[in-house]
Parts: sequence; structure tokens; C-alpha cells
Amino acid sequence: MPTPRLFPHRDGITAVDTEYVHPGHAAAHIVQQGERAAFVDVGTNDSVPYLLAALDTLGIARAAVDYVLLTHVHLDHAGGAGRLMRELPNATAVLHPRGAPHMIDPAKLIAGSKAVYGEERFRRLYGELVPIPAQRVHVTQDGDRLSLAGRKFEILHTPGHALHHQAFVDLTHACIFTGDTFGLSYRELDSPHGAFIVPTTTPTQFDPEQLIASVDRLLSYSPEAMYLMHFSRVTDVPRLGESLKGQIRELARIAERCAANPDRATAIRTAMADLWRELASRHGCPLEPGRVLALLAGDLELNTQGLIAWLERRQGQ
Ligand SMILES: [Zn+2]
Repeated sequence: MPTPRLFPHRDGITAVDTEYVHPGHAAAHIVQQGERAAFVDVGTNDSVPYLLAALDTLGIARAAVDYVLLTHVHLDHAGGAGRLMRELPNATAVLHPRGAPHMIDPAKLIAGSKAVYGEERFRRLYGELVPIPAQRVHVTQDGDRLSLAGRKFEILHTPGHALHHQAFVDLTHACIFTGDTFGLSYRELDSPHGAFIVPTTTPTQFDPEQLIASVDRLLSYSPEAMYLMHFSRVTDVPRLGESLKGQIRELARIAERCAANPDRATAIRTAMADLWRELASRHGCPLEPGRVLALLAGDLELNTQGLIAWLERRQGQ
């Protein structure tokens, strides 16, 4: 068993580093309530040994896990779900109706992800996806509630990052597990002003209007904290929400401005890097500008691809 990097928060919530790409990049969450537990997002196949070790460290039996709550099926969130479910005899996987079919039969998801990451990188990052048997999947409706040993969660369908994205509101503790809807906030970029946040516009379903509406919907719950996959707990939620919405609008403007550029990928990437460098410096991020951009390099690339996919979808309409 490997040693998991655990980040204990309040209210029985623990973040587990999924060891995806590098430490501090992606966090699965374990929620404990009484004798029962749930995962919110799980990481990749390679994350599973860390998640099982985390259960052991926290003294949670595998049979005590009732739910694997999946915000969406992008593989950094859900790639290990099938493999993990095999180890959790009583767990139900909770999925959006547009996401569930891809976890039950991952063939399309594999093809789509290879298109984004390339064959070799896909294999290295994600390995063989294990399907989840259909009878172990609960398909949600917007506004559904579920109970973990009496602890109530509301499920919100939150399109914008992906059409099949959902968020889990912990109604008892005024916090929300946001997947990728509420952007990315790496702890290395915290400053005395608090967290620094950027939106994620990953391919192939990014839609700025939908994403802003979803961020507003999350904010309407007035949560005290958001739990992000990248990376875990943030507070000062209204400020972060405004920053996200402003950036989503700005990234859409950048994409539109660069649409006719013969090398629009470079033009978009450069403009986004300039925006982030400027925002990080204004926020007082402790890293030098070059290191800020190195930390965000993968996101810069995926966001650029996602903005181009959005432009192409609009042109096709
Ligand atoms: Zn995602």
C-alpha cells in the first residue's frame, strides 16, 4: 500500500491527493458521516491504491462506502471509478444521465480522450478503463437529493465545463463539491489575499454562457466553502465567483478576437498566459511569473483546445 497524502478538513471531509501529474494537482474527497462514507471524484486507475490506503488510514471499511459521487466523466476525475468500484462492495456510482453511459461502456470515452491527449499519453495517464456494471449506477436528475447516513446532499446539473457535469451540495454544512465547474485553484498560488482561481474551459463541451449560469447557481446557495478537484477547499467564495465569471467572459473574448488568426492556438495561448500573469501578479501570488505559468501550463493547453472547440462548434451552427 502506498502512503496517501491526506488533507483533513472540517465536517468529516478529507482530501486525498490522487497523485495525478504531480502532487497538489488533483484531489479526491472522502466524506465521513457516522459509520458510513462516500467518495466525491476518484482520479485515475493509478489513484485507486492511494484511495484504498486513505480508507485504511481513516479507519473506514471498504464495505462502509455507500457512494462514489462523480461530478463528471473526464478521466482525471472518474478514470479510476470502475477499478475502485470493484473494491467497494456496497457502493453505488452516482452519475449524470449524459455521463452514466460512458462509465458503463467506456469505448466512446476512450476514443474521445485519445483525441485530446494522444494515444501514448492516454495510455500512460489512464491505462485500461474498467466499466461499471449498470446495476451499480444511479442516474441523477437535476435537484435530486441523496442521504449519506442522514447527511443530505442536493445534486445540481451544472453544464458549462461539460454538458454532463453535476455538483454536490452538502446542505448540512453549506459547502459544495464543484468538480471543475468552479475552476482550478492551486494552493501554491495562495497569497495573503487568499486563493487564486482560474476557470477550466477544457474540450469538447465548454460553453461560456452555460458555465457562468452554473457558477451563479452554485453561488446562489451562499456556500462557505467549495471543494474543487484541483485543488480542494477554498473559502471567500463570492470573490472567487466574480473572478471566475470575469475570466470566463475574457477568455471567450480572447477566443473570438483570435478566431481568424492563422495560428489561433498560439494567439489564444499567449493572450491567456498574459491574462493569468497579470492577474497572478495583482493577486500577489508568491511564485515568480515564469513559475506561475509553468504550474498552469497543462491548463493553458487544455483551455486553449477547449476554446478552439467552442469556436468551431459555433461556426458549425
Ligand atoms: Zn473536467
